Amino acid sequence: MHEMSLVEKVVEVVLAEAQRYGARQVTKVKLKVGRLLQVIPETLAFCYEIAVQGTLAEGSQLYLEEVPIEVRCRQCGETFEVENFVFLCPRCAVADVETLAGMELIVETIELALGGEENGNQNCAQCAAGQR
Ligand SMILES: [Zn+2]
Repeated sequence: MHEMSLVEKVVEVVLAEAQRYGARQVTKVKLKVGRLLQVIPETLAFCYEIAVQGTLAEGSQLYLEEVPIEVRCRQCGETFEVENFVFLCPRCAVADVETLAGMELIVETIELALGGEENGNQNCAQCAAGQR
């Protein structure tokens, strides 16, 4: 399952960031995924849930944004969006293209729950409830 290896990389990045900020928990992660990666969103979400078990990111929400495939024709320089994996230039009908977008896997945003004893927030409902 190719999603699992992608997810592992994502989780690695997310957890590294969470640690850097001394986060208590990761609450939300937003990903940009190029269509060329042919990721199935449900599968990715499923793999993510497994991968974050027992980590700071357990229970966090995962959002996916698909990035369309964009290519440039090497013959005429036309740039166009590829749909259904047809890499044919609409102008000269050759499939000699270079990829401009669609290969990316970007962790766009990570939302963290910060705070611990040191900078305990009096107004934090979770702290007040004695989670700490
Ligand atoms: Zn062309």
